[in-house]
Amino acid sequence: MQAQNIVVVGAGICGLSAAIWLRRAGHTVTLIDRDGPGAGASYGNAGLLAEWAVVPVSEPGIAWTGLKYLVSRDAPLSLQWSQLPRLAPWLAQFLRNSTDTRTRRISSALSHLLHDSVDQHRALTRGTRAERCIASSDIGWAYPNRAAYHADAYSWELRRIAGYTPEVNDGPEVQEIEPMLGPATTCLVRLKGHGHITNPGAYMADLARVLEDEGGTVRRAEMRDVTMVDGRITQVLTDERPLPCDTAVLAAGIWSEPLARKLGVRVPLVAERGFHLEFQNPSQMPTMPMMMTSGKFAVNPMQLGLRCAGMVELGGTSEKMSRGPLNLLARNVARVFPDLRYDSVEEWMGYRPSTPDSLPLIGEMGASGVFAAFGHQHIGLTGGPKTGRWVADMIDGRGNAELHTFDANRFG
Ligand SMILES: Cc1cc2nc3c(=O)[nH]c(=O)nc-3n(C[C@H](O)[C@H](O)[C@H](O)COP(=O)(O)OP(=O)(O)OC[C@H]3O[C@@H](n4cnc5c(N)ncnc54)[C@H](O)[C@@H]3O)c2cc1C
Repeated sequence: MQAQNIVVVGAGICGLSAAIWLRRAGHTVTLIDRDGPGAGASYGNAGLLAEWAVVPVSEPGIAWTGLKYLVSRDAPLSLQWSQLPRLAPWLAQFLRNSTDTRTRRISSALSHLLHDSVDQHRALTRGTRAERCIASSDIGWAYPNRAAYHADAYSWELRRIAGYTPEVNDGPEVQEIEPMLGPATTCLVRLKGHGHITNPGAYMADLARVLEDEGGTVRRAEMRDVTMVDGRITQVLTDERPLPCDTAVLAAGIWSEPLARKLGVRVPLVAERGFHLEFQNPSQMPTMPMMMTSGKFAVNPMQLGLRCAGMVELGGTSEKMSRGPLNLLARNVARVFPDLRYDSVEEWMGYRPSTPDSLPLIGEMGASGVFAAFGHQHIGLTGGPKTGRWVADMIDGRGNAELHTFDANRFG
């Protein structure tokens, strides 16, 4: 395959992974980001390499659960009501995907993308400085009681189909396995042999340096437009200067939607706003990452403190921090970990780039020479390295028939 001049837009996990694999395939690669590496969702996520995250949010019953959540003040899902007219068509498509048949199809596609995530991260970073941010760990689900675990049977069935058999513990065993859990948790479900990222911000910075060490270029620049000749990209136009290219990769997370429009492509991408609180110098740390099922947030022992991340607020990409979900997250953390003390706390909000079928867009948009690598909703950190590898393979003409489920043109 002839070496090409390739511009990758967006230095989150998807863009960084694509850029590194393209460089390793021998291409000339320039990665641009308007704010520098790891400025988006890839900075503030929960850090879980969630190979088991094969249950889409749109699972059967979501219409009823979602309605209940929307009328409650204490629910992990909320909506910026001013955005409803813009969100309504996306929500309608999202709900159409909540049948059992579609859920199983989506789950199988997610499994294809995610099942070897820890290996993919290790392959991306082997022998580089970025290895230091990957940790092996088990993953736990903290349930108030066994009945709550049984109520989650549909999700666990999908995980079992994907090959994950849980170990279920209750009674005093729970606190023996995870001393940080208070009496509010009487059932702990565990999957062994997974992994997490110990500092997502440092990981993105390291990956950018890996790209440079291997001969790629990283620039701070904002993509504004494109030049197309005979329907194919020839330049990425930035606030800095035009960047000529044979091919481009669009990996700008939630901001990919307005950029795709410059190519005449409309994608139904919505921001699921998410939040984290990172407690610095905490008095307690869990021994493994966990999903706190009551309150629906993840906890992860990280290098810089205890990160608690979650909540979904459907809305726009205004920078304004929403206090409601953040305050609820703080209350939920205090309820589950009543003895937690800390010196300071970092508050963060970011945007999960979400499609109505919970699957990312991976592949060439039309015959434009621009390849999509975005739309990874809740699982981008997990699926980013494989996405980058697939995109590099596609650009080199090595397609994979199974990738049609992620077709970048499937929304028309
Ligand atoms: C609270 C929360 C918890 C999460 N937890 C997890 C988890 O535990 N595990 C997991 O797998 N996933 C998790 N996710 C999801 C995951 O973080 C995202 O799916 C993933 O980070 C998306 O990566 P990305 O590279 O597509 O986009 P981003 O990381 O958002 O990167 C996009 C980049 O594009 C840049 N950009 C935008 N516009 C332009 C432009 N015009 N020109 C140049 N650059 C531009 C931005 O500056 C940004 O750096 C979580 C998300 C949230 C919000």
